[in-house]
Amino acid sequence: MSLRWSILYRGPLSSCNYGCDYCPFAKTRNTQAELAQDAECLNRFCEWVASRSEQIGILFTPWGEGMIHRHYQEALCRLSHLPNVWRVAVQTNLSFPVESLRDCQRKTTALWTTYHPTETSIPRFTAKCAALREAGIRHSVGVVGKKESFDDIRALRMALPKETYLWINAWKREEDYYTEEELNMLRSIDPHFDFNAAPHPSLGRACRAGETAFTVDGAGDARRCHFIPELIGNIYRPDFAQAMRPRQCSIAECRCHIGYVNLEHLRLDSVFGDGLLERIPLNFGFS
Ligand code: SF4
Ligand code: SF4
Repeated sequence: MSLRWSILYRGPLSSCNYGCDYCPFAKTRNTQAELAQDAECLNRFCEWVASRSEQIGILFTPWGEGMIHRHYQEALCRLSHLPNVWRVAVQTNLSFPVESLRDCQRKTTALWTTYHPTETSIPRFTAKCAALREAGIRHSVGVVGKKESFDDIRALRMALPKETYLWINAWKREEDYYTEEELNMLRSIDPHFDFNAAPHPSLGRACRAGETAFTVDGAGDARRCHFIPELIGNIYRPDFAQAMRPRQCSIAECRCHIGYVNLEHLRLDSVFGDGLLERIPLNFGFS
């Protein structure tokens, strides 16, 4: 049986059409030349995926918003049809036209969508979610759990069908940010909130990042994950597969879903199954 890899791709793109106040990419633009270079990198990555014998799952984790650009829409579609791709997903603010996904293979395509309360409205956002459901595109919906967003979070849960998983990213920039009552409210909406709320001690723990999962940039430089800067190899070198081996985490704690899902002892593959990349648990819709 061929190996199964999960890859986080982050090319040089660094711009966004939205203006969230806590984000360094808010209302930033890339030049045409930068976008052309980003497209070239993405195209090279797609060709590399097509050339591999491994079964590959991909999550695009751009700095900013990729899906407003045609080259991301096209790459998603192209990768979704490759026989060795078991999933291709993207983190997105869902501001792009849903029709651009019309030719994607439904079995493999997925979206990690995030609702940004200051940038759109619940009716506008949930209309997009309805269009995704109508088109049969797997997706999770998420929101950052800031206190000023609590009313929006409750309203979003009411507006979405129960089959749609609504994840909440805990606000971690302030210590002891939530009261016990607030924690219970957030848990009642996201049954997996506790996984995200507390940092996971990870130093010396077995982690699949660097064994069956890795992150890669536009130049092909691969790292175990987004949180450990040390390079493990370059995917465009013929001997790259040899870089993948069992490893233990080398930093104190892991705080993000895209990282801690790889910690062996958390066994989150039994919670998310094949929805691990786009963050859809097994007992929610689209499974
Ligand atoms: S949508 Fe995402 S990338 Fe864009 S400004 Fe908001 S948080 Fe940043
Ligand atoms: S536990 Fe997190 S930080 Fe450590 S190697 Fe795994 S993904 Fe990276």
